[in-house]
Amino acid sequence: MTVAIIGAGMAGLSCARALVQAGVAVELFDKGRGPGGRMSTRRVELEGQQLRFDHGAQYFTARDERFRAQVAEWRAAGRVAPWPAAGDEALVGVPGMNEPVRAMAEGRDVRWGTRIERLERAADRWVLQGDEGTHCGYSQVVIAVPAEQAGPLAAPFSTGFADRAERTLSDPCWTVMASFVQTLPLADTIAAGDAVAWAARDGAKPGRSGAENWVLQASPQWTRDHLDEPPERIAAQLLAALFAENGIEPAQPSHAAAHRWLYTKARPLAGQSALWDASLGLGLAGDWLLAPRIESAWISGRELADRMIAELV
Ligand SMILES: Cc1cc2nc3c(=O)[nH]c(=O)nc-3n(C[C@H](O)[C@H](O)[C@H](O)COP(=O)(O)OP(=O)(O)OC[C@H]3O[C@@H](n4cnc5c(N)ncnc54)[C@H](O)[C@@H]3O)c2cc1C
Repeated sequence: MTVAIIGAGMAGLSCARALVQAGVAVELFDKGRGPGGRMSTRRVELEGQQLRFDHGAQYFTARDERFRAQVAEWRAAGRVAPWPAAGDEALVGVPGMNEPVRAMAEGRDVRWGTRIERLERAADRWVLQGDEGTHCGYSQVVIAVPAEQAGPLAAPFSTGFADRAERTLSDPCWTVMASFVQTLPLADTIAAGDAVAWAARDGAKPGRSGAENWVLQASPQWTRDHLDEPPERIAAQLLAALFAENGIEPAQPSHAAAHRWLYTKARPLAGQSALWDASLGLGLAGDWLLAPRIESAWISGRELADRMIAELV
């Protein structure tokens, strides 16, 4: 019995960890080049220097007892640390936000850079059609990707699961990563405005270089209004908005780039925190089933694994 998990983000890896602990073999597939998903850290080479930006999730909190136990392990290993600038309970990965996902992926069988495009059934087994080949022989499949991507994968097998995914909508978010030689005259580490809903001095997070690196996130409305504009224009406009909204002199960045997230924070529908059909051997997990937060992604993956273990082991 081997379970295939599509998506090695926080939800997929949380599910994998619990399954492996119960003695179930898992193989994970992720289209990303390395660990992170929506908690990824972008690296940029600039004049021999490496810049890093947490360009997805900014910080997380841990309230659920089970997740707190997991976070305690990461903290003991120095892989997460408090970030008081974002609140008393705020935590970040160290040295980058992707570190908890990297920790969970260690020792797991993860095929990075592999996009699963379609699922099929053959002789009571699941077959995964990837962009680089076919993967056969799985007894169960877990889909742990954003709702918009989960729906089409599940649709040929479960209209109920696909319907829940298709009715769950996420906001897009234009994100800008900018580095400055001089310190910006902003007293606080975090600034919030209208077009720029969030701006954080990324280089001041624990375990970072201290460089004047900023991450800006546009509001959902601003992002929708500018969805198809070229990234260079987005970077210039959002930096101008940051300066104007905070009443500071414009400064020239030494590096600026924009990334468009199409699916950031989902607006979950009421219902179960994970979906599992034992007769099909098909499960769905992800933040979109519970709340648009890292902790919720972890809980969803864990609760799916608990339901699978109850029936499989
Ligand atoms: C800009 C932004 C800001 C955020 N801010 C915060 C925050 O401050 N605090 C917070 O708690 N949360 C925040 N979030 C939300 C948080 O990042 C998510 O809740 C969490 O990372 C979701 O984990 P997941 O495993 O469900 O999904 P993901 O992290 O999206 O993981 C899914 C994985 O599936 C892979 N994948 C997708 N489709 C396929 C396919 N067909 N084949 C193979 N692999 C596939 C992807 O590469 C990805 O690695 C933010 C998200 C974004 C984008």
